Amino acid sequence: MLYTVNLSQDRSKENSYLSTTLLEKIGETLSAGKKTILYLNKRGAFSCMICEDCGYLYECPKCDASFSVHNHPERLLCHLCGTQESSPLSCKKCHGNHIKSVGVWTQQVEKILKESFSSSKIYRFDTDSVKTKTAKKEALEKLKSADIIIGTKMITTGFDFSDVALIGVILLEQELSFPKYNIEERVYTNTKQLLWRGERVGAKTDVVLQTFIPENDFVKHITQGNYRDFFMSTLEERKIFNYPPFTQMVTLEYRDIQKQKAENFMKMLDNKLQTLNKRNEYDIQYVCLPFKRNNQYHYKIIIKWNDVRIFLRNIEIEIMRNSKLSLIIE
Ligand SMILES: [Zn+2]
Ligand SMILES: [Zn+2]
Repeated sequence: MLYTVNLSQDRSKENSYLSTTLLEKIGETLSAGKKTILYLNKRGAFSCMICEDCGYLYECPKCDASFSVHNHPERLLCHLCGTQESSPLSCKKCHGNHIKSVGVWTQQVEKILKESFSSSKIYRFDTDSVKTKTAKKEALEKLKSADIIIGTKMITTGFDFSDVALIGVILLEQELSFPKYNIEERVYTNTKQLLWRGERVGAKTDVVLQTFIPENDFVKHITQGNYRDFFMSTLEERKIFNYPPFTQMVTLEYRDIQKQKAENFMKMLDNKLQTLNKRNEYDIQYVCLPFKRNNQYHYKIIIKWNDVRIFLRNIEIEIMRNSKLSLIIE
């Protein structure tokens, strides 16, 4: 079962980031002798600014990225371009005054849970508590006896999910305080991989997604999407669509302050690549929707197949001579 919890309405007396629904579910899971995983982003060191009335998430006007909240004095800061704005008093979109800075830390969640479930084994699994590969091995061993695990992205790999009956995402919008072009990778992959892993081992896993802004478009996209099916087919899909680890993937990225110029250049390059790809050996995808970063428009071409490098020799000159064109090999 998937439960989407509105934290504005369902808050426990223990803490505003832990809903009654989630605490009850944890209690049930413990009684059944099963494990709970609570997922939280490491980047939680930064809060984001939201409107509780309309679900607006404050974003940098120059980039496709949300603002982080910084204190002393309180202000909004874009981590991509450094733009700062003073904290808003009312909502930019609906003019309501329920503006709120939200963010939560693993240590904070750990403390409250240890108080609420004092007889349970609660472990934290993040880069602060696990610093080396050996430490990760040891920690994974220790997690076998855990009742509740509070983890960051690290938990999505290398952990046996067979006893996990409950997965909770503490604050969904905290995941969104990333540049948007990374969202597919960050939010979907992390959250979805977690859930998918739970299902793959055949466990009946309940999922609780907590958010203050259930009406936000992106949040809706995740909570209402048919993501269960998505999980089941994630790896299969990666195989079909030739994503790593099944193939090599190279991204050509071009940026320019003039949208038209960037678009023209990339269309030209795409044409050239498609002509070179006579036998359709390579999967070449021109991403026609740019993302904006520090007022520059970034366009991408993604090329997939074995040994893309050989193919790229054909456009060596463009790559070497054009400082606005960069190459990312995965
Ligand atoms: Zn910015
Ligand atoms: Zn609003």
